[in-house]
Amino acid sequence: MVGFGYDIHRLAEGESLILGGVEIVSSFGTVAHSDGDVLLHALCDALLGAAGLGDIGEHFPDTDAAYKGISSIELLRRVIALVKKEGYQLINIDCTLVLEKPKILPYKPQMRERIAEACSLPLQRVSLKATTSEKLGFVGQGEGIEAYAVCQIEPILSQ
Ligand code: MG
Repeated sequence: MVGFGYDIHRLAEGESLILGGVEIVSSFGTVAHSDGDVLLHALCDALLGAAGLGDIGEHFPDTDAAYKGISSIELLRRVIALVKKEGYQLINIDCTLVLEKPKILPYKPQMRERIAEACSLPLQRVSLKATTSEKLGFVGQGEGIEAYAVCQIEPILSQ
């Protein structure tokens, strides 16, 4: 089975920018109820989607004070547990971040490692790509950041 996820967050000066569980040095960041990790939110939705388990908002509503400022790595761990409980194992992940700045390249290895660790996957099965939107639209103007993710899961075969 495959799953697809998408997320978007608004950017503002003075907010923190956490992507793939890694804090990025930046004067601006995502406006959010949680830590605003747009990449991990897209990934959580891809995982939930593959297992037919709805979306991240249903499981962790942003109206619930329990999730205020929660680490998205923790959300990802919980989603992985839900997918596993449903009888699936994760095969691979492929994600794309779309943002104008800052440059993500220096952070990519650490982001991949954090995701791989949270998902109990070898590094080669966690793909992370980043692109700008060529200064076009709201992402290009630096008003927001988007992420797309796909994943593959398969049923865990009982012994
Ligand atoms: Mg989000």
